[in-house]
Amino acid sequence: MPKVRGHSVSTSHYIDGKWIEGDCHFDVFSPINGEHLTEMASGSPANVDAAIESAQSAFPAWANLGAEGRLPYLQRFAAEIGKRKDAICEVESADAGILLSRLQHGIILRSMLNITWFAEAALKLQDKIIETPQATHHIRHDPAGVCAIIIPWNAPLMLTTWKLGPSLASGNTCIIKPPEWAPLSSALLLEAANAAELPPGVLNMVQGPGSSTGALLTSDPRLARISFTGSIPTAKLIGKSAAENLVPCSLELGGKSPFIVLEDADIEQAAKTGALMYRNATQVCLAGTRFLVHKSIYDEFVNKMKSYVSALLIGDPQIEDTEVGPLIHPQQLERVQGYVHRAVEKGAKILWGGKPHEAGDLYYAPTMLSDVNQEDEIVQEEVFGPVLTLQTFESDEQVIAMANGTKYGLGGVCFGKQLHAQQVANQVKTGFIWVNSFGIRDLAAPFGGCKNSGNGREGGDWSFDFFCDVKDVVIPKKPFVPSFAQR
Ligand code: NAD
Repeated sequence: MPKVRGHSVSTSHYIDGKWIEGDCHFDVFSPINGEHLTEMASGSPANVDAAIESAQSAFPAWANLGAEGRLPYLQRFAAEIGKRKDAICEVESADAGILLSRLQHGIILRSMLNITWFAEAALKLQDKIIETPQATHHIRHDPAGVCAIIIPWNAPLMLTTWKLGPSLASGNTCIIKPPEWAPLSSALLLEAANAAELPPGVLNMVQGPGSSTGALLTSDPRLARISFTGSIPTAKLIGKSAAENLVPCSLELGGKSPFIVLEDADIEQAAKTGALMYRNATQVCLAGTRFLVHKSIYDEFVNKMKSYVSALLIGDPQIEDTEVGPLIHPQQLERVQGYVHRAVEKGAKILWGGKPHEAGDLYYAPTMLSDVNQEDEIVQEEVFGPVLTLQTFESDEQVIAMANGTKYGLGGVCFGKQLHAQQVANQVKTGFIWVNSFGIRDLAAPFGGCKNSGNGREGGDWSFDFFCDVKDVVIPKKPFVPSFAQR
């Protein structure tokens, strides 16, 4: 097995409880310094078919175990992730460019919790009862079947476990297709699953590019669910093939979220929080990327935010104090540069940044563009890199219209006096919005987007509703009299 940062990482698929070598491979590079990390197996039609067959065969026994029977397996799975935490964090950071300190102090713990929290929550699922004068309705959450899990490169560990937790806990069997630009932490997750002795076929992994392996998997009619997080163009492709087979899809997509600063905001807090938007080089779907600042406080806000941004430590994400790491891939750098170039050609002014950063080949300076119009590409399209825009407004009506004036509807941030900010936040059409804060999440709360940012919600009962077939078993309270008059 090749070593990445001193840790052995499998470059095979994992199907039916066995590591299966690939016939062909793709290269995996680190965004930190371009280092070639390894070669990864690329899934063939036969690999995808074998994974689906294995997941289908494992399904009845795993479903019949019930939530209580599955709990110890999933607790062991989380514990095995914990035993590998150093390897998982170091490999994920090298592979995806995510800050090592965030992985070690936050993401790894959250990933384990993603498994155990849903495993415990599933115990309560069969308890829902609706009493009426005529009958007792036993509301069951029956496992759906074989689920495909497709996630992007910007948060592989967090997003894979966030989907695996509820899917496995509710009795489904799964196939993950990791992102080809950051496939390595998934391999370590499967080692943890193997060590936890999940029954063969319950969790399978087929590595490979989205356009080939991913498309094969998501177009298979044997799937019961597809849970996808990624870009809008890919979601449209997956949605089409899922529709062909009538497979329910959950789609968590891109964002262009407003960061609103009202005239009565705590400007210091807003500016400090604003600088956080550059975390992970703004390769974060839920970041506020369109700054909408009240005209009366514009200068003060810009000066304060600029001072916080200029203090950001940009560089190797494996160094403890680093705050902003690299972009994931040369294509991503080209994309970011293209957006900035076109925006400047259209008249945008660079307030800070606007060019690559000397920390390395894939680093781009945190950038803010002002003098942009609502209809401009830079305001309307997700950059998915450290490029933010700044617009001003003069009334609540105006800022609400600007906040809602894109095809996206994922999240938002609103700073202002609490009641005022809450009133504005209520009128922004998004799946979630943070008032005087950013990034507070809970596993029990819903997460997802409106408009082109996706459909469905993940988290708490919303995850179970998606991953289960909800069934009403109706038991009459009086002897039933068959009658054509019955409604
Ligand atoms: P992407 O759509 O290119 O790829 C996502 C995944 O889909 C990858 O695993 C890829 O291999 C796979 N894929 C690609 N083509 C496929 C196909 N035809 N069939 C099946 N699978 C296919 O997205 P990306 O560039 O990896 O990720 C960035 C996007 O993800 C951004 O738009 C970002 O906003 C979004 N995102 C959203 C959330 C959210 O929760 N809403 C979270 C993180 C990222």
